Amino acid sequence: MEECLFCKISRKELSADVVWEDDDLIVFRDIHPKAPVHALIVPKKHIVSLAEAGESDQELLGSLLLAVAESARKLNIDQEGYRTIINTRHHGGQEVDHLHIHLLGGEPLGAMVSK
Ligand code: 5GP
Ligand code: ZN
Repeated sequence: MEECLFCKISRKELSADVVWEDDDLIVFRDIHPKAPVHALIVPKKHIVSLAEAGESDQELLGSLLLAVAESARKLNIDQEGYRTIINTRHHGGQEVDHLHIHLLGGEPLGAMVSK
């Protein structure tokens, strides 16, 4: 069993404000939101970062991007627009070593807003 934070949230061993989920992924609100709407799209499979994703993850990676758009609709930010960010490894500012996509919106974010 993975000790990873996002694996534990996926398995419901830790609580989170879940927006929705399916068999392959879970979407929950970031605990320290950087925008009025800030959700994380997380595969239930433990993949450390985008750098560790492989050919066998092709379908899952597609599902994650579609889940971004679906989450934006559910959170009512799809019409005005939103930003997606994937931080990868040290220079990318990745803090949690389990692949995730940030979804930010709810106000104009400006040119340099990151997560
Ligand atoms: P990273 O820097 O790895 O791209 O982003 C990790 C994100 O996870 C951060 O925005 C941080 O606020 C969020 N985060 C860290 N721990 C928790 C937690 O326990 N619950 C939730 N919902 N978000 C978390
Ligand atoms: Zn994990």
